[in-house]
Amino acid sequence: MKPITELLKQGVVLGDGGYLIELERRGYVDSGSGREKVGTGRGSGQFTPEVAIENPDALRELHREFLSAGSHVLQALTFFGTREKLNRAGYGSDTEHINAAAVKLAKEVAGDKALVAGSVSRTQLTEREGMASLDKSRDHIAEQIRLLKDAGVDFLILETFFHLAEMKVALQCAAYAGLPAVATMSFRPLITQCTDGHTPAECARVMADCGAIAVGANCEQEPTRMLPLLREMRAASPVPIAAQPSAFHTADECHSFTRLPAFPDDLETIQVSRREFHKFGQSAKSEGIGYLGGCCGCNAAYIRALALGVGE
Ligand SMILES: [Zn+2]
Repeated sequence: MKPITELLKQGVVLGDGGYLIELERRGYVDSGSGREKVGTGRGSGQFTPEVAIENPDALRELHREFLSAGSHVLQALTFFGTREKLNRAGYGSDTEHINAAAVKLAKEVAGDKALVAGSVSRTQLTEREGMASLDKSRDHIAEQIRLLKDAGVDFLILETFFHLAEMKVALQCAAYAGLPAVATMSFRPLITQCTDGHTPAECARVMADCGAIAVGANCEQEPTRMLPLLREMRAASPVPIAAQPSAFHTADECHSFTRLPAFPDDLETIQVSRREFHKFGQSAKSEGIGYLGGCCGCNAAYIRALALGVGE
């Protein structure tokens, strides 16, 4: 496989879908909803990636499904894999083990047919403790990126960051490690600004300035709801746009499925059809989207629909 920077020059790079919600639906990941109000950032165990060591076959199978659907990139399931988040879920001492195992599994399935990206997300410290915790976030993110580099990822996907300030920290850590990074913010409750008050255009400019090889958005919205913010980013960005929307209907007053009452136990009632992803794939080239995948709610059928759309 050519490096990600080369692939981005050649056309639309097809990513993969969402891992944690799909594996939760298959019975291998804890949503935490039995214990706490999920989505507050205050909880402990929700949606963490210990499946990589506890049920590796389930994760291996999902990687295989995405690969056969057409993904050019498999994300190692290292989302929420900082020691900070894993500590609160009771897996802190397994931080090295989980990150290494997740990358190994993804590489094993990818072989020479796909690149492997390390997924790095927010620590949730900023939500709980505010901006004063950014130095602590830096230590945790830097540690995880070191582990991912040692495990041999091809590049990083920095995703589902709510604060641009924490994304900047992550991009600095990626640059320090010498790994290329795709950077995508998540916007909630509306697509007009991120949690620390920056517009999508500002986010795109800053992420590109910090060295991201592609910038964009992931999670929270379905494709049609996300498209206006991607256009705003495209107009402001010197680098390709990355988009990994979720597959859940949102509402005019709330553009964020994790803020809707259906999250996490009634998501089936707001599921978006794969047809919307097919159309999104068809428009990717004309919308200037260089990296295209799915997030929560997207299984292999959605990635296949994207792939068919891009190919038309
Ligand atoms: Zn998601």
